[in-house]
Amino acid sequence: MQLLRLMSGAIIIRMPPDGLPQAGIHGIELTGIPVVHEFMKEIEAHQLVYNFICVPLSNPMGLDSQIMGVQTGYNNLHTNQQNCWNWNRIGNLKDEPSQEGHWIKTLLDLSAPADIILDLHTAGVEAAPHIYYNESQKEHVTGLGIPHLLSWNISSDSFADTNFQRGKVALTFELSSSRSVQGEWVKESLIYLRRFFGLLPKVEGSRIWQTEKQLKKWYSPTGGILCWHKDAGDTVAEGDVIATLYTRKGSMDLKSPFTGVLLLKNPIHAPHERQELAKFLVE
Ligand SMILES: [Zn+2]
Repeated sequence: MQLLRLMSGAIIIRMPPDGLPQAGIHGIELTGIPVVHEFMKEIEAHQLVYNFICVPLSNPMGLDSQIMGVQTGYNNLHTNQQNCWNWNRIGNLKDEPSQEGHWIKTLLDLSAPADIILDLHTAGVEAAPHIYYNESQKEHVTGLGIPHLLSWNISSDSFADTNFQRGKVALTFELSSSRSVQGEWVKESLIYLRRFFGLLPKVEGSRIWQTEKQLKKWYSPTGGILCWHKDAGDTVAEGDVIATLYTRKGSMDLKSPFTGVLLLKNPIHAPHERQELAKFLVE
């Protein structure tokens, strides 16, 4: 098992804010790991006026969980297979002597001195980049060039939300799709971080959505083989044919139930009845 790799303190000037970029708390979410490694080089090169704690590999147990080369470490399957814990929903376990409790305590102790927490995630088999943030922290997420900004009111037990409740700027970035990684995604994600830390000018163009009201899930009407006709990030209108489902009785058109944006596709190609297929941002 790999140990937590911690790199601390590129430069300390005056009374800088502490920043903690972290990646990979979900073991299927790979893009953030090279992004943090590459960003550490930029901290050095530009001598950024922050005191960084970089955690490129925040969940080695999750990363090591795979079946036939496919990452499966979203939940901890090892400790409780009947009711496995989502690795990013274990904040409530921090005082327990379990593996999850020990791990979240380690991450919370590491992040305790930080003022800014950037938790780098990915989503789905195909996703448009987005950020989850508390509505009070809008100024920190605008201008980065991330197309969709999802503001929340009701806190979860996620690592970032737990840190928000500790009084920090705490953001969950969803950089790309999960389980694979491409050089382009790493490059684009580094641009978001450069804008965040002032190395590049801010840009316009992000859309803001209310998570509790506008983020909607979509479920398969029956079992079959799913062929999409839309890409993540595409605009859709209610009633548009967006996919074909090949069932035992033949093929059927699946129409969009919403007008808005197809935010992400779940990693489901052969869904069963009522399995979640996708998430939409709804006008
Ligand atoms: Zn995640």
